[in-house]
Order: sequence, then structure tokens, then C-alpha cells
Amino acid sequence: MKVVALVSGGLDSTVMLWKLRSEGHSIVPLTLLTFRRNPREIEAAKKISVVASGREPIVYDVSFLRELFDYPQHIKERVFQQFPTLPNIVIPYRNIIFYSVAAYVACLEEADAIAGGHTREDVERIPDVGKEFFTELENILNKYTPFHRIKILTPVAGLMKAEIIRLGIELGAPLQETWSCWSVFEKHCGKCPGCVSRREVFKSVGLEDRTEYLEG
Ligand SMILES: [Zn+2]
Repeated sequence: MKVVALVSGGLDSTVMLWKLRSEGHSIVPLTLLTFRRNPREIEAAKKISVVASGREPIVYDVSFLRELFDYPQHIKERVFQQFPTLPNIVIPYRNIIFYSVAAYVACLEEADAIAGGHTREDVERIPDVGKEFFTELENILNKYTPFHRIKILTPVAGLMKAEIIRLGIELGAPLQETWSCWSVFEKHCGKCPGCVSRREVFKSVGLEDRTEYLEG
């Protein structure tokens, strides 16, 4: 199949790309520039896309899309009172928007499917990444745009983060090229929440973390 894959430059979407490759799909990488998106992530997404698919990713500017973290205080307070476990980096309506853009690109590229790299942890804590959501969205996309058939694939959604790392290493994915740091230094800072969780996940599977950190 020809698959439009949403890539972020992070670990999960990179392993998803290598899983799609290992299944023999041809890949059209797509990355979306949201508000305050870390430029290091985009660089990583570009580098990884070229290796995975032989082409630069399609890059669309959607920088009007903010995470809840960047919403006005009174809105954030209301949302987190109601949904205390929701991560504040969630973009409202994110996946309806992202997957609709991916479907649009799929029509343009005559692709059969669109794909994203969600983990099982995501499925457990974020409402718009579950199986039910994607089944409904796939139905809506196909029903109301009847001249293009589309499938939604979430190849790593059944896996926990640690299992994704293991699969990535098994498939030879260039995990050291992915970007998890919240800063914009040349190398991963080693201290921010993104780096801390990256280090922990490699440690938890007992595998070598080849990331270069500024602080050891
Ligand atoms: Zn960092």
C-alpha cells in the first residue's frame, strides 16, 4: 500500500515508519508545524523521512494550532478540573485535524492509507487516539468523500513505549536520530522531562541509548 505517514521526529513515529517499511509499504511522510514546534524535531523528521522513504516530508504550517498549555488560563483551569489526567500538551481536536490533513494529502498522492505513531500509553490517556475514534473517523472520511477510499493505520498503538523501542532496534530504525528534548541545543540537554523520559525508557528495556546528551 501507499501510506501517508504523520512523522514528528520522535521515537514513536520513527519506529512506526520502520514497521511500515518492514511490511513493504511505500511511504509519503508528512509533518505538521504546530505552534512553538521545536525546530530540532522538524530537522529530525526531515532526516529520518529521507532515510525511511527516500523523500523529504511534506511540511504544512499549521502554527495556529496550540496545545492546551498555550491556551488562556481560565480555559485550562476548566479543562483540567474536569479531566485531571489529560496531558497539557494535548491540542484540542488534534487528531481530527491531523488525520483529515493526512487524508487530503492521501487523495493528492493517490495513497491508500494514512498512519500515525501512537503508543498504548497514549491510547490509555488521550481520548482521540483509541480504536473507536479511528474507526469512526475512517467511516466519516470514506462516507463523505466517496471518491477516495482511505484506511487509518496505527501500527504501534498496541505497544507500550518500551516495546516500541525494542521493536525499533530490532527493525534497525535510526533511534539516535530522533529528537525528544524540549530545548533547542545542538544535542539533547539530558535534563528536561523529554530527555528524562527518553533515558528512562532505554534504561527500562536494558538497551544502549546512543543519544548524545549535553549533561550525563
Ligand atoms: Zn532535554
